Amino acid sequence: MPELPEVDALGSYLRERTASRIVVAAHVAQIGALKTFSPPLDDTVGRGVAGVERFGKWLAIGLGPRGEVDPDAAEIHLVLHLAKAGWLRWREEMPPATSPKGRPMGRAAGPVALRLWFDDGSGFDLTEAGTRKRLAVHVVADPAEIPAVASLGFDPVREMSADALGTALRSRNQQVKGALRDQNLVAGIGNAYSDEILHAARMSPFTLTRSLGDDDVARLAAAVTEVLDAAVAQAAGRPAADLKDAKRRGMAVHGRAGQPCPVCGDVVREVSFADRSLQYCATCQTGGTPLADRRMSRLLR
Ligand SMILES: [Zn+2]
Repeated sequence: MPELPEVDALGSYLRERTASRIVVAAHVAQIGALKTFSPPLDDTVGRGVAGVERFGKWLAIGLGPRGEVDPDAAEIHLVLHLAKAGWLRWREEMPPATSPKGRPMGRAAGPVALRLWFDDGSGFDLTEAGTRKRLAVHVVADPAEIPAVASLGFDPVREMSADALGTALRSRNQQVKGALRDQNLVAGIGNAYSDEILHAARMSPFTLTRSLGDDDVARLAAAVTEVLDAAVAQAAGRPAADLKDAKRRGMAVHGRAGQPCPVCGDVVREVSFADRSLQYCATCQTGGTPLADRRMSRLLR
């Protein structure tokens, strides 16, 4: 799943390529992906790209009068959430938007959810792999009309402070792993970077947030900044197609169960849940004691 660093880099990439481009066609290939009906998607046609903004893991493409490159000039926004398996495929040369007889060509085969064409022949496909379709596209006058955007917590890159993090995490008593992933508390961190942040902070994913002392919060805040800044720097300037792989390469524990921890050499362990898993290093994070993995215990019983 793309998280803050990848979405941020994708936003920059789009901002560069689409500045002052005019939308000439937009088609939804997976009808379920479009979550709004008013204004209609066709209202994007004829407008220019005024700016691209990121909200947590959401991207908003602002569209306004032609030739005005200023996010404040946006009249409507195409707001995207890529969910778990969605991505944006940029194309310098799009296939034609209409057939020679003028029929729309939007019904692309395969995993394409939505296509957008610009006036210079470029454009993009929003794609989503897998059978569970979660990718979401909203057309709104203001991104804050989308409840999930309006309720986002603070941005851990733009607004980071130990105070903000401490307040957000302690607002409820829960496991720190879940709290870091809760978009209403901290916007943009998902399963992968929360594993990495907790490893960098040498903290157990199961630590309860109200048990965190000020020193713990400060350590965690430093780890958030260290991990996200490095990931943002690594992702910046990469073409959209490279971003997913770039994310994998930089990981210390996430997705690396069974491999050695790059810090201490202990084996990276895993805890599995119904629909996801977390990875951690027992030596670095839990005083050497492996965390209980209910799935493993069940299998061994
Ligand atoms: Zn370690």
